[in-house]
Amino acid sequence: MAASTINNTNNSNSLLRNSLANGRLGHAYIFVGGNMENLELQATELAQTLNCKSPKTSGKTGIPLDSCRECISCRKVETHNFPDLDIIRPESKSRVITVDQIRRLIQKVSLKPTEGRYKVAIISNAERMPSVTINAFLKTLEEPPDCTVFMLLTQHPEKIIDTVLSRCLRLNFEGETGIQLENEDKNWLHSFVRMSVKTNEGLMGRYRLLSNLLVHLSSKKNTIEEIHKDASPLNQHEDIDPTLRKKWEKELEATIESEYRGQRSQFLAGLQWWMRDVWMMAMQQSKELLYFQDWADDSQAIAKRINADQALENLQSLEATQRLLETTNVQETLALEVGLLKLKL
Ligand SMILES: [Zn+2]
Repeated sequence: MAASTINNTNNSNSLLRNSLANGRLGHAYIFVGGNMENLELQATELAQTLNCKSPKTSGKTGIPLDSCRECISCRKVETHNFPDLDIIRPESKSRVITVDQIRRLIQKVSLKPTEGRYKVAIISNAERMPSVTINAFLKTLEEPPDCTVFMLLTQHPEKIIDTVLSRCLRLNFEGETGIQLENEDKNWLHSFVRMSVKTNEGLMGRYRLLSNLLVHLSSKKNTIEEIHKDASPLNQHEDIDPTLRKKWEKELEATIESEYRGQRSQFLAGLQWWMRDVWMMAMQQSKELLYFQDWADDSQAIAKRINADQALENLQSLEATQRLLETTNVQETLALEVGLLKLKL
């Protein structure tokens, strides 16, 4: 357990370092992972790097890449006693980040840094911001004062609204969270990506992508049906009381539906992560930040055809489709059609 934690920490550190070396410093990051303590550690280390008195820097961009961990700034940041570092966490009683906490933070970052180069504001459990807090925060998150870096930490990015998520660069800490794509899905997704690269922007092209997606999902459902029908008691008994038969049939149907929904959701999450890769490329972020790094050239090819706003709209449109499918009984084909035909690829 300990070893794997250390490993993850190293991975995410190098992920962040490489992204800084090859890209630009963002003004808002969202750290997504399975362990809040670890995320706070990551964020603190980035705060150290940004404020270290003798940091290692990138020759290309001049952005600091690592801290010395010994200077006075590094030590103060490590113990959370640095005047330009603020960490807020949900307050104990209500377990939410209150509007007062956010207002104090905004007030703080509106001032010039006192000891460091950057003011760093870390928000732990960022999904615990009620809408009143978000409303007070959004404008500052969109246009933070100079030399300010926000770091939002969460184990539940799905609980954070798009308007917040989309304003942040997302760092997904490997091995701690993310999607479980089966090989078959991954292969299919890659062929979908290849097809998107070749497809012209026209409506026909998008219809072709849509029909491919529908065929894939329907074959998924067929496989699930076959497996569960084989295993059902309906298959093993010949004379079944009609009431019991009805009950078993209902159970079978519900099992198939829920299994299918689960698999569909994982699969669409894969598609979403790829859309996010395209967005990263459109923002000229580092390839190290990509989820599907092997497909960087394909994602780059799409990113060249669209701008960052369009890439973000793609991502948001797919996220909206997923939420629609997961939270309502909307007809699948219709939801996918509306979502997919909006994409700019
Ligand atoms: Zn230092």
